[in-house]
Amino acid sequence: MEDLQFSTFNGVTEAMPAEPSCFSEFGEDVRLRRDPEDSAVPDEAGESLFDSMLCDSNSRLVPSGFSSSSCTEPDGVLRFVNSGHETTVEASSTLKFMGDSSFNGGTVLRTDEDITDAGDFPFLYQSARFGNFCYQFHGLPRGDCFVDLHFAEIIYTNGPKGIRVFDVLIQEDKVLSEFDIFSVVGANKPLQLVGVRVSVKEDGELVVRFQGINGSPVVNAICIRKAPEGAAPQQPKEYLRCNHCASEIEVSSAEKRLMRTKATDKYEKKIQQLTTDCQRKANECHEAWMSLTAANEQLEKVRMELDNKTFQARSLDQTVGEQAENLRNIATMYDQHKKSWTAAINNMREKIRIMKEEHIRLSRDAHSCIESIPELNNMVAGVQALVAQCEDLKLKYSEEQAKRKQLYNQIQETKGNIRVFCRCRPLSREESSNGCATVVDFDAAKDGDLGVLTGGSNKRTFKFDRVYTPKDGQVDVFADASPLVVSVLDGYNVCIFAYGQTGTGKTFTMEGPEHNRGVNYRTLEQLFSVARERSDAFTYNLSVSVLEVYNEQIRDLLATSPASKKLEIKQTSEGSHHVPGIVEAKVDNINDVWSVLQAGSNARAVGSNNVNEHSSRSHCILCIMVKTKNLMNGECTKSKLWLVDLAGSERLAKTDAQGERLKEAQNINKSLSALGDVIYALATKSSHIPYRNSKLTHLLQDSLGGDSKTLMFVQISPSEHDLSETLSSLNFATRVRGVELGHARKQIDTSELQRVKALVRENLT
Ligand code: ADP
Ligand code: MG
Repeated sequence: MEDLQFSTFNGVTEAMPAEPSCFSEFGEDVRLRRDPEDSAVPDEAGESLFDSMLCDSNSRLVPSGFSSSSCTEPDGVLRFVNSGHETTVEASSTLKFMGDSSFNGGTVLRTDEDITDAGDFPFLYQSARFGNFCYQFHGLPRGDCFVDLHFAEIIYTNGPKGIRVFDVLIQEDKVLSEFDIFSVVGANKPLQLVGVRVSVKEDGELVVRFQGINGSPVVNAICIRKAPEGAAPQQPKEYLRCNHCASEIEVSSAEKRLMRTKATDKYEKKIQQLTTDCQRKANECHEAWMSLTAANEQLEKVRMELDNKTFQARSLDQTVGEQAENLRNIATMYDQHKKSWTAAINNMREKIRIMKEEHIRLSRDAHSCIESIPELNNMVAGVQALVAQCEDLKLKYSEEQAKRKQLYNQIQETKGNIRVFCRCRPLSREESSNGCATVVDFDAAKDGDLGVLTGGSNKRTFKFDRVYTPKDGQVDVFADASPLVVSVLDGYNVCIFAYGQTGTGKTFTMEGPEHNRGVNYRTLEQLFSVARERSDAFTYNLSVSVLEVYNEQIRDLLATSPASKKLEIKQTSEGSHHVPGIVEAKVDNINDVWSVLQAGSNARAVGSNNVNEHSSRSHCILCIMVKTKNLMNGECTKSKLWLVDLAGSERLAKTDAQGERLKEAQNINKSLSALGDVIYALATKSSHIPYRNSKLTHLLQDSLGGDSKTLMFVQISPSEHDLSETLSSLNFATRVRGVELGHARKQIDTSELQRVKALVRENLT
């Protein structure tokens, strides 16, 4: 008797044979077992596969091979056919596997492949019947029995699933539907259909039929067992309710299955038809949708066109409005223009009328003019005579001018070409407050006499060309110097010195403070003024250099960068002296002069701690170079005016001279003595004039001699403390004044003269 175990499935109580022990080895991954737990939580994929294949609810699929231990009652085995196997194998005294028999159709299939998990008798699964076949068993006892079918996929070892699908019918009841071994266990693995309960009638016949759906059916073994008597499982009973009378009809599960199959077929057909209908409708819908889309596109196009047209209409409206406005404006303008033109025409008419009248008057005047032409001719002749007279006068004026200059020079020459003006400064505030006595007497100053109280009642008198008292100002001093400076414009070399002890007013006389300027500035002012006056007859070109002679060295105070070479005095081929490389700043007006003098003065300050002290130990020289061209006769002259602020003349003995200071004092002494010696040599008409004994005399050579004009300001102090220096200065000046330097002569620029001569010669040829 086979053990039965009860479980519930789909709400129907069913009896199942007890599980063979080999089932416990069944892996969890393929869940084909039905038990209460599983039913509670069914594996959806396994369950549906299971449901779709098993038609008999009592049967089950077991994914392992046949085990003898599972066969608890070997006596109950009625037949065990090993399909595809030729011979009968006796497994035990009670269990015998028959060679393949009772089949109808099909072929034999065998394999040497190992069958995994094949149970106690793997050979069962290495042979099979395959193809279009069925089994028909005879002589079986009447009553119920169980049929077990053994399968293994031994052909299509690599699948795929669905390659072999078939139905199995026993006694024409479908027990396996669309059965696919590969899809359940894969290749070379056994699969048993266990416990299909069938009943055998009086004829003792049992038919197992295999129907291929896809590919050919296959079976490896068929086992027919006797069903235990009296323990027939309770057939599931199901009821159908009539749709009309509501009465319930009892149906067996087999009938229910048949009905379900029929209904399924019917519904499948219906579904097929509905699917076709649906497809058709979908196609229709698609077509409708396509035409709707096309219509929409058309509609969109039309809408856009409409928009365009609307826009065009609107812009046309706007244009029309603008044109109308323009038209109105034009009309208004036309009216205005018409009015203004009318007024203008009237105006013109009036003017024409006036012009006509004027024309008549002018015609009359013209007639009277024609009549007066002879008179006019007389007047023209008169004017021409006057012009000729004027030319004659001009010529005479020129001659007179030349004579005037000649006479003027003669006057200057009679005065001597070296003149000495003595200027005495006032007592300084300090000297006055100290009660310092004055040793100078100006009683006969107007006659050029200066008295000096030399001690006690002794008085020495000195004679000069002019004597300026402390009350005489810069204007008075320049008034006497001005004719001399102007002679530089006539082509004479001129030299003006300021000589004297430090602090006696040399710089005051030459430069002067800004608000009370001295000879230098006033000279240039005068030169520009005269040049302007004479601009009809002469052109002048003025340039200036500012130099300093310190310790027998020449320094260019206008040089923007320190001279790379020592400045030296050179003689030109024409015999004049100059310093090559020295800056000659062209000056066109008094403003230029001021900036140049400032530049020189600033340069002097550079490199000296005390400007006043430094200036007292160096000779400061302003040289004005004048180039003149006489526009009447083309004569060109080149002349120089030297304005020299000499270093202090105080003697060495008076100073505590040491080191550098001693050297300075010696150099000053040397140059001032050289100046005295030059003048002395000139005075005595010596054959040798020692110009080269000092840089100063060498530099001034052209202007210290017979053909040039010299003015010396001898500056003195009125103080009794300076008496000795005052006397020394006055003696020096007297010596200078006594010199007759001879006639001054013009400095003709021979190079220019020669150039003009060549030009004239060229023009003549
Ligand atoms: P030096 O150049 O001979 O050393 P300065 O020209 O520097 O002398 O004069 C010395 C001082 O005397 C300066 O303060 C100057 O203003 C003043 N001084 C010189 N001469 C006159 C004068 N004629 N009238 C007024 N002040 C004078
Ligand atoms: Mg000075």
